Amino acid sequence: MTARYDRSLLPDPVSFYESAGLVLKGPGKWKTTSCQWHGGSDSMRINSDNGAFKCMACEQHGGDVLDYFMLWHGAEFMEAAEALGATYEDHKPSKPKRKTTLSAGAALALIQSEAWFVAVTALATANPDSPPLTDADRLRLKESARVIAHILEEAAE
Ligand SMILES: [Zn+2]
Repeated sequence: MTARYDRSLLPDPVSFYESAGLVLKGPGKWKTTSCQWHGGSDSMRINSDNGAFKCMACEQHGGDVLDYFMLWHGAEFMEAAEALGATYEDHKPSKPKRKTTLSAGAALALIQSEAWFVAVTALATANPDSPPLTDADRLRLKESARVIAHILEEAAE
């Protein structure tokens, strides 16, 4: 079980900055407020959509509320993410290992025998004197196609 960061769980930028004691001013997307680093009263610009911030005076900046929190509290990434409620516990078990994987040689041998069967059957049906395919032949052909497709899939991974 591991804590993982999910950006979509970050608090809404406006409520985050207001709860940090800032007064956001201005009509547009970029709000003006005071800089908590150098103390300027109106030099900080905050993007109310994505939480990005930049001080026009002391150059303090970041891309979202997580960056702000980390800089402000001197917090580590996951520490800040947890404090902001942007983490979740990952309960997923690690991907199970494939039970059987054919070696390249075995896979090739299998493809050869299946391909040989398909070729022989195809030749037989091409001969007007040979009897039509039985249902068992058809099933066997399907099985060959399935085996070949499966091996190719494995090889592609
Ligand atoms: Zn500043």
